Amino acid sequence: MNRNFIGGEWVGGAGGDVVRRNENPSDVSDIVGVYAQADAAQARMALRAAREAQPAWAAGGIQARAAALDAVGSELLARQRELGTLLSREEGKTLAEGIAEVARAGHIFKYFAGEALRVRGDRLESVRPGVEVDVVREPLGVVGIITPWNFPMAIPAWKIAPALAYGNSVVFKPADLVPGSAWALAEIISRSGMPAGVFNLVMGRGSVVGEVLATSDEVNGISFTGSVSTGKRLLSQATQQLTRLQLEMGGKNPLVILEDANLDIAVECAVQGAYFSTGQRCTASSRFIVEKGIYSEFAARLVAAMKTLRVGHALHPDTQIGPVADAAQLQTDLEYVETGKAEGATLACGGELLRRETEGFFLSPALFTDASAQMRIAREEIFGPVACAIVADDFDHAMSLANDSPYGLSAGICTSSLQKASYFRRHMKSGMVMVNVPTAGVDYHVPFGGTKGSSYGSREQGAHAIEFYTTIKTAYTRAA
Ligand code: ADP
Repeated sequence: MNRNFIGGEWVGGAGGDVVRRNENPSDVSDIVGVYAQADAAQARMALRAAREAQPAWAAGGIQARAAALDAVGSELLARQRELGTLLSREEGKTLAEGIAEVARAGHIFKYFAGEALRVRGDRLESVRPGVEVDVVREPLGVVGIITPWNFPMAIPAWKIAPALAYGNSVVFKPADLVPGSAWALAEIISRSGMPAGVFNLVMGRGSVVGEVLATSDEVNGISFTGSVSTGKRLLSQATQQLTRLQLEMGGKNPLVILEDANLDIAVECAVQGAYFSTGQRCTASSRFIVEKGIYSEFAARLVAAMKTLRVGHALHPDTQIGPVADAAQLQTDLEYVETGKAEGATLACGGELLRRETEGFFLSPALFTDASAQMRIAREEIFGPVACAIVADDFDHAMSLANDSPYGLSAGICTSSLQKASYFRRHMKSGMVMVNVPTAGVDYHVPFGGTKGSSYGSREQGAHAIEFYTTIKTAYTRAA
């Protein structure tokens, strides 16, 4: 059994042996591992350990932090194939995607190893002669990290690495569905030379372990990625303790295709953005907004491309699209396929359960055409390989359709007009804007996040991550 890591010790589940069996969505007969489940008391123990350990970690200096993060990054990069295989086995994305995600996590740790050395302050003259003012950054303190199942290695990495780099201690609660990658990451961090209690892993249910983080006054900040409903719940609970929050939630990301687009690029962006990683990315394109002159041709070419996609076991070398992550998500996806039909959209391709040699959650990527902006399939986040295409009369109409969403994470346009691309970049209400590149698939060294209902709090990743993980102190000094 793989155990939790609390105060520098590997501890069993609550009451000794409460465990979760980790099932492979490509082959439900394959159990990836058995993982301890923490209870509320253990989550509180982890918070106490983190509280006690944090001052020494912050005082221990930036070289020690940089060295520890660099060691974690090196090991992730060295073991990317092995850990990528584990990730694909438990989450269901293809082996290539799994390996790339582990490599990305490795690069993130190395990036923040460097950032630990680059924390800047300001020195200003005071308006009072003889007094100097220093503005410095200090660690936030104890940070709770709550992550979803769709990027089991990269999302924990992009929260844990900056938290530790800037001198915070961490209590990490991964998603129930994917404890394997989280445990492997924690095991590497446990050997990186950090004092006991600086980093803690508590696997377990959101309603148990997550609630402790949300309601404890021992937590200074929570960085969360997950659903809108859980994000809002956290907001209502954690702000009672004045806990700082960073929430990354859903998306309903548009990809606009104009008549002047290079259609090869448009189809490539559509397939990659909507269906790779089985559509289970918060940045996935789920609304194709297509100018009427090329609507039919685009739809026909997209359907042709979709029909060539090979859906299958995540670890099979030929597979391009892995299974849906679990039975519950598959059920949701199938219900949305039914909803789309009932709403009057045309199911142009896919949306069917597929049989493979192993028993898994295989679904053919689905495209609805003749969709309208009011349909639920065009408004609600599905989080699966299901997208819809909507006709736009012209560029202005496309812009207003693209912005007509409660979400604002990522938005893309395919066009060869610099003027229209510039207008789109300026007027899309989203945190990320993509021109002739897919809405999903972002760099690790620049900010990530959205507007409107997609995000809350300051940006993740890149140099802007420091805003969440530090607090500002202003010091006035008169030499006396
Ligand atoms: P997803 O659909 O990505 O699983 P969730 O919002 O359900 O989205 O889960 C994201 C993370 O939030 C998971 O780690 C989950 O266990 C955790 N979580 C779920 N419920 C709560 C809660 N009440 N308080 C804190 N965390 C929670």
